Amino acid sequence: MQKDILNEIEENLKSGYKKIVLCAPTGVGKSLVGATISRYFDSSFTITASKHLQDQYIKDIPFLKPVKGKQNFPCLKLMSSEKVENTRRAMRWGLTCDKGVCQERVSKNGKEVVEVCKFKPTIKQVEENSADSQSCSYYLQKYEALVAKHSLWNYHAFFQIMKFNKKLFADYLDRKVSVFDEAHKIEDQIIQFVGFDIFAGQVDECNLNSEKYDFSDLDSMIKLTDDIAYSYANKIKNIKESPAFQNNPDYELISKLERRYDKAAQAKIDILSDKDNFVVNDPIRDLNGNFRTISVKPIDISKFAKTFFDTEYQIFMSATIAKQSFCENMGLEKDDVAFVDTPKSPFPIDHRTIDLLNIKRLSYGSTEEDEIEVIKTIDRILDEHSNVRGLILTSSIPRCQKIIRYLSPKNTRRIRICHSKNKDGKTQDEVISEHATDPTGVLLSSSLWEGVDLKDDLSRFQIIAKVPYPNYKEKRTKAKMDKFPTWYTSQTLTKLLQGFGRSIRSNDDWAKTYVLDTAVNNVFFKAQQMIPKAYYDVLGMDNL
Ligand code: SF4
Repeated sequence: MQKDILNEIEENLKSGYKKIVLCAPTGVGKSLVGATISRYFDSSFTITASKHLQDQYIKDIPFLKPVKGKQNFPCLKLMSSEKVENTRRAMRWGLTCDKGVCQERVSKNGKEVVEVCKFKPTIKQVEENSADSQSCSYYLQKYEALVAKHSLWNYHAFFQIMKFNKKLFADYLDRKVSVFDEAHKIEDQIIQFVGFDIFAGQVDECNLNSEKYDFSDLDSMIKLTDDIAYSYANKIKNIKESPAFQNNPDYELISKLERRYDKAAQAKIDILSDKDNFVVNDPIRDLNGNFRTISVKPIDISKFAKTFFDTEYQIFMSATIAKQSFCENMGLEKDDVAFVDTPKSPFPIDHRTIDLLNIKRLSYGSTEEDEIEVIKTIDRILDEHSNVRGLILTSSIPRCQKIIRYLSPKNTRRIRICHSKNKDGKTQDEVISEHATDPTGVLLSSSLWEGVDLKDDLSRFQIIAKVPYPNYKEKRTKAKMDKFPTWYTSQTLTKLLQGFGRSIRSNDDWAKTYVLDTAVNNVFFKAQQMIPKAYYDVLGMDNL
């Protein structure tokens, strides 16, 4: 199957396409396909979204030089100041590179100078192999990746360079191809780099009164952004002119305030340059109704996307990606993009059956009876699978709580709620580890739709209680849905198909999937053209 995919990609490249969207299901070996394309071009960037997938690449594709996050390395400067010699102990004590101050302004002979950490190598030293063996290991691996022909990045680190440091690393970015894996997540990644998030702490720090602003109005939020920038500028000026600073300058504080000023000022420029494209999401408030945070985000990211795709050739890979909506969303010309849709899943059909039970349609307006009927069905399925582990997916935390409330006591005891953040402080991984020790445990979640592998006995059945529509009460979602109706359908389909794949991770693995919400028919109907061919057999669409 890999060979067929590669042949099709090669044909497309030979006929002149420089951008290719590859839709290939789990088990096809997308990472090996990506690696072969990288080799074909002689120089490349490979970009992944999840740590789990990055680890898999590191294991399987040794010629890619990986860039790992700062939290994975001990900071030599902190170790030196804390007098810790053992790197393992430094890691245990949290003396990691994300906390290091790599560059600071200090006073020398009464003059302000920038001092770079003595452990930080330069990229030139790394390129010429002359870096000190005692150099900072975070920067060593990052620069080794930048000078290498083939490197492996996570989206955040890669986009950070593309957005802010293109000039600085211009000599090292001339690579032929970018292979974007988990490409269905690109929009979520890009949006972190455009727009503005305002936090309560920031408003307080700037001595502003949040009640003076209208949190539903874009102009008022632009004014708040401007006031924040103005306040930071004033603070910097006042601190610099103060006698305390003249006697004992705190340059670290000044740098911090300058970064905050830059961010607010840049956000204002971005928003004003394309005002109609930005929306203000509803503010998040704490239990007492106090303002916590608010974000101003663009509806259409296509005009920003090009900044992040800079190589001559680009390959976008995912198990769940549809060409048309992807191109529309990313601002790519449809005719310039080739689409390779893998015709079949490599896993046997009876290992991944999907039962559309059509119990009730669930929505914000569902009746209590409908909701309870769905939960009763969950109870019945749990009884049928009483000796194995499983997974229940739904769309929100309140829905998880409701399921728990109405399940029979014996099935309630099997449930472990698993969100990205859990009340008792446990991480998602910790909850899944506990689940692995419970032979009949069932995970209940609104966040495990993707990025988790419940291999083999970790899950033998999965219940999709509610179709995962994006939350249209969120203003950006609503605005985007109005402007790009196919985007809403494609987001729902992507999440649903990702959910289908959580419990079937290899050829010998198997799990049965039940879908209870009748809204699934509507999604499949509207998204007919977007459904990847590899799902046609299990969805009974073989005759299409
Ligand atoms: S360069 Fe490395 S060792 Fe130095 S402060 Fe930064 S992270 Fe720490």
